[in-house]
Amino acid sequence: MSGPAPGNGAVSLDDARWQEVLEATNGDAWPCYQCGTCTAVCPWGRVREEPLNVRRIIRAAQLGVEEDGRMLWLCTSCGACEPRCPRGVPIVRVLRALRSLAWKKRQVPKGLPSVLWGIYQDGNPYRLPPSARSDWAKSLEVRRFQAGDEMLLYLGCTASYDRRMQKIARALVRLLREAGVSFGTLGDEEPCCGEAAMALGHAAYAAEIAAANARLFAAKKVRTLVAISPHCYDMFLNHTPRLEAGFKTLHYTQVLADLLKAGRLSFKGSVPKRVAFHDPCYLGRRNGEYEAPREVLRHIPGVELAELAESREGALCCGAGGGRMFLETPAAERFSRLRVRQAGEAGAQILAAACPFCISCLEDSANQLEAGPAVMDVAELALEALGAPAPALGTAVQGGR
Ligand code: SF4
Ligand code: SF4
Repeated sequence: MSGPAPGNGAVSLDDARWQEVLEATNGDAWPCYQCGTCTAVCPWGRVREEPLNVRRIIRAAQLGVEEDGRMLWLCTSCGACEPRCPRGVPIVRVLRALRSLAWKKRQVPKGLPSVLWGIYQDGNPYRLPPSARSDWAKSLEVRRFQAGDEMLLYLGCTASYDRRMQKIARALVRLLREAGVSFGTLGDEEPCCGEAAMALGHAAYAAEIAAANARLFAAKKVRTLVAISPHCYDMFLNHTPRLEAGFKTLHYTQVLADLLKAGRLSFKGSVPKRVAFHDPCYLGRRNGEYEAPREVLRHIPGVELAELAESREGALCCGAGGGRMFLETPAAERFSRLRVRQAGEAGAQILAAACPFCISCLEDSANQLEAGPAVMDVAELALEALGAPAPALGTAVQGGR
């Protein structure tokens, strides 16, 4: 038998399950000595009566016993627990491995199989038509990427299909044109980055997607890829193989910060507002980029930059990572609700982020407050600061990280 007890507080162990868990987690759970710090720092404890008991899940993984499978899907992979773990347990990796076992047993929350089928059949987790992927750019005449272009603008599924997030993509197109950057997109041919599959614990499928993407980028001779979502950015930076010459991966805030520093982009308008930046987990804690978005904001005339109570390494997650974007969270349990309150405490009129998932969560929560801050992406603020219409098409080829 596997799982909690035959009635007297003891647990019965199952050798087969133990072996299975050991293989899936690669022994990653072993160093845990059950201090419970992970459970204490996990933000679920701030919004739910029953916290996400990570310590207990890790203990069950050590013993190879079954745990309450529902808890496993709460993790947003925000990474707040890992730097605090005194034993260096790669907690998110262990949780993803346990999710992979749940897939094998078909013990996954309703709705998640459809996310993976969507990526497989339609090239996006939202199950929207692949032929509509580049509809967002229809009025902009964004051209296809060609070998020799300075960069490939990679939209990602959310900025391609979500009407709210398409605004971020359009802002970015105008900014890159203003700076004279030569760039293109892959149009309807753009593939999903595969991050959703990885986050949901389907590592083998995510690796398959990553390998196909690496081949596509090599065939297109992509040298620099700029991603809008930090989740795509992380997938291309850390989980996509490099073939032949490889390619450099940048987040769009890094590109804008570089263009501003190089004098290729400047702001003639102003945004006279107090702005607080919410660090997206996959840009900040996961990949150490805290400065680029703040640098862009600092360049905007009129912006008074404020810091949230929890920022940079200590930033509070918006709640959408780890596949939570595809699962329902009751309004009262959303981390973004706390985040929006923090923005109010910091006196911010605008809560800025640089991630479509964060924008989606924060905006939803801000709209539920009577006097919530406006939620804007850094690219949208930069566009507002341009203050002048952009030229029709940029062509120059130079510079960059
Ligand atoms: S913080 Fe690390 S050592 Fe402590 S319970 Fe969690 S995983 Fe185990
Ligand atoms: S990664 Fe974030 S959500 Fe997941 S267990 Fe750690 S602190 Fe909790």
